[in-house]
Amino acid sequence: MKRSAAPYVAGAIGVGVLALAVLSGGSRPAVAVRSAVAGALGRFFTLAELTASAAAVRLGVDNTPPLEAQENLRRLVFYVLDPLQASLGRKVRVTSGFRTPAVNEAVGGSATSQHMSGEAADIMVSGLSAVELATAVIRLRLPFDRLIWYDLERGGHVHVSLTVRRANRGETLHAPAAGGYQPWAPGDMGGGNRSA
Ligand SMILES: [Zn+2]
Repeated sequence: MKRSAAPYVAGAIGVGVLALAVLSGGSRPAVAVRSAVAGALGRFFTLAELTASAAAVRLGVDNTPPLEAQENLRRLVFYVLDPLQASLGRKVRVTSGFRTPAVNEAVGGSATSQHMSGEAADIMVSGLSAVELATAVIRLRLPFDRLIWYDLERGGHVHVSLTVRRANRGETLHAPAAGGYQPWAPGDMGGGNRSA
């Protein structure tokens, strides 16, 4: 147990608690383990991962989600991100999760962005293109409200959201380099802009 727990803790909680473990001389591992659990969001993710924001750092603003948004993040991880990572066997990297309104505005998010309620995450997986990742989400029959894959010119990520405020739409879109959004279905590599 100890051998496998150490890398999990290091990966999950990052520098802050590691420093704590070092400061305590490594004699009280229980402290670090408890902190890891507190910051955990499901099986593979942490609250820190789902709230990290370069824009928030740049602006010097706090990007801590309110409790309701934290619950939404937890739900998104439980139903979508955890099963996705478990199935792919590769790290699902969150490039943008929760955003306060200020952070959302700073990154050019839409005024109604589900990132502001903790209902959405932008994700990437090493070795998979955005369209491949979006296709995997669909093939795995994971629930979602909106699934959008972005061309490289617009970030090359996949936006996925899940809501409990109404029925999930299961909407699938492609965000082409030229701008805007267009309907998309798996197998359709570029909404008609590319050869099949
Ligand atoms: Zn997004």
